[in-house]
Amino acid sequence: AKSEGGGRVRFFEPAIAEEAKARLELKNNLKRAIEEKAFVLRYQPIVSMATGVAEHFEALVRWMRPDGMVPPDRFIPLAEETGLIIPIGRLVLDMAFARLRRWREEGSSIRLAINISRNQFQDEDFVEDLINRARAAEVDPATVVLEITESMIIADPQAAKVILGRLIVSGFRIAVDDFGVGYSSLSVLVEYPVHIVKLDKSLIKSLEYDVRARSMVSGFIALFQRLGLEVVAEGVETASQHEFLSLAGCDLAQGWLYGKPLPPEAASALGRAAAVR
Ligand code: C2E
Ligand code: CA
Ligand code: CA
Ligand code: CA
Repeated sequence: AKSEGGGRVRFFEPAIAEEAKARLELKNNLKRAIEEKAFVLRYQPIVSMATGVAEHFEALVRWMRPDGMVPPDRFIPLAEETGLIIPIGRLVLDMAFARLRRWREEGSSIRLAINISRNQFQDEDFVEDLINRARAAEVDPATVVLEITESMIIADPQAAKVILGRLIVSGFRIAVDDFGVGYSSLSVLVEYPVHIVKLDKSLIKSLEYDVRARSMVSGFIALFQRLGLEVVAEGVETASQHEFLSLAGCDLAQGWLYGKPLPPEAASALGRAAAVR
């Protein structure tokens, strides 16, 4: 069919072949990286807006390559398409739990948020595997926040209700990530037993220039608090964003204004500072 398509199709063939080759190479490199456990976590502080103290962190994965660290946006999508996210997700859980255990041994009660991808959430072994790993690492589930997205709930609401129920009964805390992008649905937050909502950074960015975004964000914060949810603002970069969110009564905030994703020792130091206060 390719040769019948005429000159126009043939013209694009080399580019498509190149792309397929690059994907295959990335996939093979990713498989090797899983065998070699060539991933690390960075820990970004989530601060209390009232006190500025970092009692919470979000774990963000990076792939260590000889030529440097690869950010998640460059390999998570392919990992999701190929199913490799399942073993990567398990490595992430083990690293996150090992870190939580160390923090506890050091005497700080830091809470750590871990990103869960759709394939992981839908994997039938997910809940049991998670519980087993947390138990093996002697981690208190109350210090673990699992970040999921609304789309994962909407994809199969009945199944999601069962999974969320099991996670919550086991003591884990649930955050809805990236709220405010795509088809956000308030009903998800009302009907599903989640604890935390994270306002997406695109919403926070538009605070600077969009009056309606300002009304929306302050309205969301008030509503979520009335529903008993904790609200985290993501991607806070400027003092004026901080000021607005603080006046709107937002509980927690995350962004470059407070700190970038940090290596574990630097995060530990921040956490220790939080614990002694
Ligand atoms: P996310 O869950 O929305 O994570 C927040 C992203 O925003 C992080 O990018 C963080 O570095 C970045 N960020 C933090 N503060 C600011 C800020 O003030 N301004 C701006 N512009 N960006 C900020 P990162 O680390 O590159 O992660 C990208 C995405 O990759 C994450 O988005 C998450 O969806 C995914 N991801 C990261 N780690 C994991 C993981 O362990 N498992 C899975 N499944 N996905 C992960
Ligand atoms: Ca997240
Ligand atoms: Ca997010
Ligand atoms: Ca995201």
